[in-house]
Amino acid sequence: MAITPMHFAERMSRLGTESAFDVMVRARALEAQGREVIHLQLGEPDFDTPAHIIEAGVEALRSGETHYTPPAGIPELRQAIADEVSRTRGVTVEPEHVVVTPGGKPIMFFLILALAGEGDEVVYPDPGFPIYGSVVNFTGAKAVPLPIREERDFRFDLDELRSLVNERTKLVIINSPANPTGGLLTDEELRELARLAVEYDFVVMSDEIYRRIVYGDFDQPSIISYPGMQERTVILDGFSKTYAMTGWRLGYGVMPQDIAAAVTRLAINCNSCTPGFTQIAGVAALTGPQEPVEQMVAEFQRRRDVIVAGLNDIPGVTCKLPLGAFYAFPNISHYGDNIADYLLQEAGVATVDGSAFGDHGKGYLRISYANSLDNIEKALDRMRAALLKMG
Ligand code: PLP
Repeated sequence: MAITPMHFAERMSRLGTESAFDVMVRARALEAQGREVIHLQLGEPDFDTPAHIIEAGVEALRSGETHYTPPAGIPELRQAIADEVSRTRGVTVEPEHVVVTPGGKPIMFFLILALAGEGDEVVYPDPGFPIYGSVVNFTGAKAVPLPIREERDFRFDLDELRSLVNERTKLVIINSPANPTGGLLTDEELRELARLAVEYDFVVMSDEIYRRIVYGDFDQPSIISYPGMQERTVILDGFSKTYAMTGWRLGYGVMPQDIAAAVTRLAINCNSCTPGFTQIAGVAALTGPQEPVEQMVAEFQRRRDVIVAGLNDIPGVTCKLPLGAFYAFPNISHYGDNIADYLLQEAGVATVDGSAFGDHGKGYLRISYANSLDNIEKALDRMRAALLKMG
């Protein structure tokens, strides 16, 4: 029997969603009718998980890793993560600072739930990953969008940041390299954010899930390494993007110990723990050969160059060169808003409207180039024809 809306808790009306999954369902429905669709909507590498990681997971299953595990993660993986983060972020991290979860997403859910409530404010990037604002609204806290500006190469403006934080700010969320824009934050933004975090005593969640996917020589600094920040930073990272492990569901947070205790308590109330065999595969990913990651990033760079050149070649479309992640975020405002549905129906190309990532994403499209060069070229031809038809 269907449950009527009056049975839902009021907070459910404030919970958003991630449109990329809705687009996937609509694209699959078209495919079921015999249409051919090129999938450029989902944020997942199209590569297979490297073989040595799969082997480690299978071997773990065969050797009996089929039981509950410690809620914050198995000691070997927490240690490997602490070593990796210490090595790459310029701070010393201990295993006690690490909480392992099924994917990186639970870290954002648990952290926002742990820190934000009625009367609190949380600042988050707009356009940005849609789950940030969704969960903040769910808690009853005020979600405060921080505009991400194309004219600043998809970074935020320092004056705007200063105008949005105050004594009620509990948490500021940043994401670099960014979904959906591919933009990178630089020392200039991080330094000022760190200064404000100390002044107003708020926590920063730094979503670094795309940290390894950067193009060129840019060495992405982490906010955790700035003065006064280790005691107020939560790094979110994981295995989905770097090691093409989206379906394994393995991610983690690195945070001060009191926050780790709160996040772990929420995990115990929700999922108990993360499967042991995926965690053992995670140890193999972090401690094993990194060439597969380098090869994947090199391939993404080739595709990025093709898609950005092809988009800029379409009259009325302009696309900045993304510096990281695997998304292009072209400005298509010449053709109006909400054209992803038109492109799906008319051209059989699945993308996501920029507005799904916040009001400041209106007039843009998010195109994931985690697809073959052949398909990217075909999609460009089809999008060009469909857009020119609009005039
Ligand atoms: N953060 C950002 C910005 C993302 O784009 C995603 C996935 O799309 C995640 C976090 C969560 O990834 P996962 O839960 O697969 O680790």
